[in-house]
Parts: sequence; C-alpha cells; structure tokens
Amino acid sequence: MDLRKRTWASISLANIAHNYRIIRSRLPEGCKFLGVVKADAYGHGAVRVSRLLEELGADYLAVSCLDEAVELRDAGVKLPILILGHTPAEFVSELIRLDLTQTVTCEAKAVEYSREAGRLGQTLRIHIKVDTGMSRLGFLCAGSYFDQGVANIASACGMPHLDPEGIYTHFAVSDETGEAAERFTRGQFDLFTRVTGALRERGITFRLRHCANSAAVIRYPETCLDMVRPGILLYGFGDGGSLGVRPCMNLMTHVSTIKYIDTGLPVSYGGEYVTDRRTRMGVIPIGYADGLLRSLSGKCSFITEHGPAPQRGRICMDMCMIDLTDLPGVDLESLIEIFGEHQSAETLAGLAGTIPNELLCSVSKRVPRVYAED
Ligand SMILES: *Cc1c(COP(=O)(O)O)cnc(C)c1O
Repeated sequence: MDLRKRTWASISLANIAHNYRIIRSRLPEGCKFLGVVKADAYGHGAVRVSRLLEELGADYLAVSCLDEAVELRDAGVKLPILILGHTPAEFVSELIRLDLTQTVTCEAKAVEYSREAGRLGQTLRIHIKVDTGMSRLGFLCAGSYFDQGVANIASACGMPHLDPEGIYTHFAVSDETGEAAERFTRGQFDLFTRVTGALRERGITFRLRHCANSAAVIRYPETCLDMVRPGILLYGFGDGGSLGVRPCMNLMTHVSTIKYIDTGLPVSYGGEYVTDRRTRMGVIPIGYADGLLRSLSGKCSFITEHGPAPQRGRICMDMCMIDLTDLPGVDLESLIEIFGEHQSAETLAGLAGTIPNELLCSVSKRVPRVYAED
C-alpha cells in the first residue's frame, strides 16, 4: 500500500494471461510463441511478465539489448531470449555464458561474432535478420540485392562458431489498412519466402523462421511460420476490438492538494491557461518525469469516480493541475485514472498524436508497478 501513495501503474497479470491465451489459440498447430518483452515489457515490468509467460508455456522471449536480457537472466528467467538489436562483439562471451541468442544483421558482424566465439572455443547461437522492406536492420535482399544478400547470409551461416538457429524479418506496415499496405506486406513476405527458399537450395535450413508481429498475427495468419513475435497485442492493444484482448495497465494517481483560485489567474508555467471562473483546482502528483507526455498539456481529462476532470495549464515535471469545480464529490486523496479501464491509453495517445505503445513505455522507472494477480 505504501507504494500507492503517489502515482502507480496497476498491472493485471490475469489480463496478460488472457491475451496470451487468445493469441495462442489463433496460431497454427506447432507454431511457437515468442513474447516481446523489450522496453521493460512495454512498461509492464519485464521480469514479472517474463516469469508469467514462462509459466504459461511461451517458447521464447525477445528484448532489445544485452542489458535487458541480463536483467531477465539475473531474475532467473530460463526461456531462450533473442536480442533484437546490436550487441558489440566484445560481449560475445557474455552472450554465450547467459545462453542468449543474438540477431545477426550483416556479414561483417557475423565475421566478428564467429571470430570472437572461436577465440573462446565456443559457439554463439544466432538468428539471421533479413531486411525485406523495413530499411532498418538486416541483410539487404530486395531487388538487385537478392543474389548478394542470399550469398552473404549463406556465408554467415557457414561460419564455424555460429549456430544459425533462426531467420526472421520485420513488417513495416502490417498494422495499416488499404491495398497499398497489403501489397507491401505481401511483398515483404514473398521476398522472405524467396530468400529462405534460395538458402534451402544451397542446403541451408533453419529451425525457426519468423516474421509476424502483433498486426500480422491478426491480419496475415499465413505469415506465422514456425514462430510469431507479438508485443503490443500481449499488452492489450492493436486488435481493433476483433480478438477481445484486454489492456493490462491502469496508470493511477490521487488528488494531493485542492485550492480555490480566483477568476483571471494564470495556471502553471508560462501562464498559458487563465481561469475563466473561480476554480476549484486539484494538484495531482504526476508529471512528464513519470511519463505523462507534456504535449498533452491542456488537451486531456483524467478520470475521477464522478467523471472526467479537465487538465489545466502546462504539465510540469512532477505534477499537474486538474479542474474540479464541477466535481465537488472529488476530494483530497480521491483516485485519479490517467489511463486504463475508463480512459483507454489509445484515446489518450490519440490526443497526444501518438500510439499507446509510446504511452505505455513512457511510464518511468519512478512509477512503481503494482501487480494484481486477478
Ligand atoms: C517490437 C518488435 C516486435 C513486436 O511488435 P508489435 O507490433 O508490438 O507486436 C516484433 N519484432 C520485432 C523485430 C520488434 O522490434
């Protein structure tokens, strides 16, 4: 309870489990489940979420970087973990010691990793990343790069101290509707299929081929292959209501101060908002250092048990103000929901011109996560 004094994120593990089961039930027979727990499990707490996924029977986890993987291993998480981003070759011994799987995005990195693993007399488990149109990480294989790309992947897979367990790609527009987006996604998948086909002809096969992020699991089930990589769907967003996944985080605070301010007085930094009536103003202890985006200043309301309270003036680092004039029932210590059950993170994200993903992973380290088991 002490934790709840200021501002906290209440996380429903039951809802994460519900979402896991829903996604699982959509997968083809034998398809493995990799839970993406990067960015502290999209703000939900990577250790708790990973332990839960382990209990539920997930097959693999993915994080962005070595530090995130170390946190999970230190907490006793045993599942295979794929690092999606770059790890410098000097950390190969740590990757092997912690039994981690490293993404390899180009031939030069494969050379470095193999050399380093060889120096240690060991083998590093890798997944090959193919760039099929995201233009981010991966072996370039589109258009005129096809033959060279396939040759480079084959060369990486043939290196003596690498174990190429998997190969994957990432979709750029699988969450967008419309014919152009569909054509692009199908084009990415087709290229991926042609790359793995060309490698098979050279005798190179992989135990795990995977492409599908959350949106693709829903909209392009044919891309599920050997394993899927859902992130945001696991946390309750991105299904447009079609699957019935449930949001898992309520970002909560309470009213810490109330005062009456005369008409015509400026509120907060910059004095941009000026009261147009005698105002019963509440101060709540949440600001942009907690992850409440400053760009929401004056554009949103937060939820009280008597209805929405408009936010006034600029959001400060550690607090902000809400108008309680029309909500006399809201008092000191009254609970305030920033987003969650009564105001979707999707709605608030829309007001900020962003996506729920950003709101969720913006909730900062200072905000304690409180876990409800059911
Ligand atoms: C973040 C990420 C995912 C998960 O994406 P969602 O849209 O949240 O499902 C999958 N694969 C890769 C490579 C990622 O970086």
